Amino acid sequence: MPLTLDPHLRRALAERVRFYNELGIYDFYQRDPRLSEIADQTLATDVALPLESQPEVREEMPARKSAVIQPVAGGNAFEILQLKEYGTADPGEALKLIREDLGECTRCKLHLQGRKQIVYGVGNPHADLMFVGEGPGADEDAQGEPFVGRAGQLLNNMIKAMGVRREDIYIANIVKCRPPGNRTPERDECETCSPFLMRQIAAIKPKVVVALGAVSAKNLLAINAPMSELRGRWYDFKPAGVRSDPSWPGARLAVTYHPAFLLRDPRQKGEAWKDLQMVMKYLGLDPLTKLADPVPAR
Ligand code: URA
Repeated sequence: MPLTLDPHLRRALAERVRFYNELGIYDFYQRDPRLSEIADQTLATDVALPLESQPEVREEMPARKSAVIQPVAGGNAFEILQLKEYGTADPGEALKLIREDLGECTRCKLHLQGRKQIVYGVGNPHADLMFVGEGPGADEDAQGEPFVGRAGQLLNNMIKAMGVRREDIYIANIVKCRPPGNRTPERDECETCSPFLMRQIAAIKPKVVVALGAVSAKNLLAINAPMSELRGRWYDFKPAGVRSDPSWPGARLAVTYHPAFLLRDPRQKGEAWKDLQMVMKYLGLDPLTKLADPVPAR
């Protein structure tokens, strides 16, 4: 007979599973219920639980650690880990399933704040290189594609200067809906949305992720540091809260300036170019041209 769980217990279990996810543990086995009965009887006899095995009270999780919890239809709380894309090895198919799961998302308040459409992400599901920005602006909101406005033009030039084509890489954002007036996405919005990005990254399995700007870097890395400290080095990155292909060692992550910032302060383009050269060296890319202004505005 299926076991029906009390909603509080189910939530507590979901939290606990999420905690194990953070430790890199994804596979769970259900204990024979008869063993649980024996354990219950034993524990009922006044045995105090050791402190470390009591349920802990945990603070809010940082964005990168939050898992997407599937609604639990039946009684088994561990079904929450069966994300739809786990059933396919094809990254394109996995991206479609994640998109389906996202649906006409109303999970955060951005859906009430004037977004026209969800900007999911674009590019090659088999990409070695992925760029992650902050969130859609007005042009992206209108067209449903990331980085198609002025900042997108500059990003296109950066990509071209690296010797790759836009269609060969994958581009996404921390949040998929336009924050009103292009304000910075708020913490709860990032936390609600980034699990979908984590799933996209786990599906694509890129060699390199480039975080564009501080909002992207801080959310992907769960580090709160200024750009001056974040740039100029590699990070090992594995999307948090999702199961990834065991044969994929994770991506290397580099941080560079957001193209919108470079439009405001073009003097920093040389610095951005250094970041991209680090990426090119790692990926074995040859720049198509040696440009005097390596990241031209148009
Ligand atoms: N800025 C971003 O961070 N993302 C976009 O898609 C466009 C502008």
